[in-house]
Amino acid sequence: MTRFLSEQFRYLEPYVPGEQPQDKAYVKLNTNESPFGPDPGVLKAVQREAERLQLYPDPTGKALKEALAKYYGVAAGNVFLVNGSDEALNYAIMAYCDEILPIAYPDVSYGFYKVFADLYNLPQTVVPLKEDFTIDVDAFCSAKGMAVFANPNAPTGIDLPVSEIERILQSDPDRIVLVDEAYVDFGAESCISLVGKYDNLIVVQTYSKARSMAGARLGFLIADASIVQELEMLRYCTNPYNINRMTMAAGIAALENDAYYKNNCRTIMENRETVREKLEEMGCEVLPSSANFLFAKPPIGTGEEWYLALKEKGVLIRWLKGIRTSSYVRITIGSMEQMKAFLSATREYLKEVQDA
Ligand SMILES: *Cc1c(COP(=O)(O)O)cnc(C)c1O
Repeated sequence: MTRFLSEQFRYLEPYVPGEQPQDKAYVKLNTNESPFGPDPGVLKAVQREAERLQLYPDPTGKALKEALAKYYGVAAGNVFLVNGSDEALNYAIMAYCDEILPIAYPDVSYGFYKVFADLYNLPQTVVPLKEDFTIDVDAFCSAKGMAVFANPNAPTGIDLPVSEIERILQSDPDRIVLVDEAYVDFGAESCISLVGKYDNLIVVQTYSKARSMAGARLGFLIADASIVQELEMLRYCTNPYNINRMTMAAGIAALENDAYYKNNCRTIMENRETVREKLEEMGCEVLPSSANFLFAKPPIGTGEEWYLALKEKGVLIRWLKGIRTSSYVRITIGSMEQMKAFLSATREYLKEVQDA
C-alpha cells in the first residue's frame, strides 16, 4: 500500500467475483451466467451500433427507458439505467445512507451489500436468516435504516412472497427498502407492481442472468420518479455515459424477443428440478430454489471438498466461506449437458469419499 492512499480506504475488503479461470475449459457453473447466448436480434443491434462507436451514447437512455417502461407497465420516469445492477446498489446506497442513516442486510446474502456499506463507512445491521435460511421479516421490520436484500435470495435461492415484502415496506415508510431481483425471472414474484403504491421501494434488476447479457453490463432499477431523479443527479455527478452504445441497443433488442428468454428460463427451471431430484437421491440436502442455482449440502464431506474435487474434474461450482455457508455449495443451473457432467462428477466424487 502506498503512503498516498486515503485513510478511509486502507482497510477495505473488496468484493471477490467468482473465478473466471483461463487455464482450461471448465464446465462453468460458478457465476450464475446463462448457458444460452443472446438472441440473434441482439447480435445485430450490437453490430449496428458498433459502426457508430465514434459517437457518445444518449446520456438520458431515453429509448431503453421507454422500452423497459412499456415492458414492465411503468412510466419511463420510474426507470434508472445502470452499468450492471451492482451500480444500482452503489447509487442507492450512496444516496440513502450515511453515518446516521444505517443499512440492514441479511447475514447470508449477496456479498456486495457489505462491501458498499463498508466503502461508505455506514452503521450496519446484519439481520440473520432464520434457521431454515428464509429472510427474517420481523427482524427487518424492526431494523433501522435502509433494508437491502435479494429476492430470491442468494446463495440460498429461497424467495419471499410479495405480501411479506409489503410488511417491511409498511413497517417504516420513512426508510428505503431495496429489493434486488437479479433472479426473479426463475420463478419468484416481482415487486415492480408495488412501485406505484410505495414511494420507499426500489426494485433492482439485471440483464446478466435471465437475459444472457452478463458480458454487456446492463441493469436497471424501478422506483418512484422522485427517487429516480435523485439518483440521476448522482449519476450526472459520477458518470453520465455509464451505458455504452452497444449495450443500450442490446437492451432494447432483448425486449423484442421475450419468448426466447422466457423459454430459456423455463428450460433452466426444469433442469433445476431434475438436478434437485438427482442430488437428493445421492443424499444431498438441497434448499428450495426459485433462482437459476441450487444451494446444496453433501451427505458426506464439506462444501469445500466437494468444490475442490469437482474443480479437479473440470467442473466449477461456487463455495462460499462463512459459518452458515461453508458446508454447502452453490451450483448454477446450465444446459442439461452441463448438468449431466456436474452430476456424474459428483457421483464419482461421493463414491471416492465413501470408498476412502
Ligand atoms: C449477479 C447479481 C447481481 C449483479 O448483477 P450485475 O447486473 O451483473 O452487476 C446483483 N445482485 C445479485 C443478488 C446477483 O446475484
